Amino acid sequence: MDSDHQRGTSWQDRAACRGQATADHDPWFPEGKGADTAAAIAEAKAVCERCPVRAPCLELALAEGHRSGVWGGLGTQARKELAKARHQGADAAQA
Ligand code: SF4
Repeated sequence: MDSDHQRGTSWQDRAACRGQATADHDPWFPEGKGADTAAAIAEAKAVCERCPVRAPCLELALAEGHRSGVWGGLGTQARKELAKARHQGADAAQA
């Protein structure tokens, strides 16, 4: 089973996470909280670190507003902070 990151575009074909997620274990979209979830997220981020398409993955998540999961090596909170910083930067540039 592929994760939500893989939908058939050319860059997604090169995703390091391709084929890594299973129905029983998807570290990019772990459920719940606690140590097991933290370990799964760390596992996902370690794969993202060596992914050749990290940048477009992150941009897709930001453009589409994905709130859950690990995208482009960033978790939910980090993406939220990045989006906020970009928005503030855009506002400052327009002022
Ligand atoms: S950056 Fe991470 S989540 Fe995105 S395609 Fe690569 S391995 Fe998958």
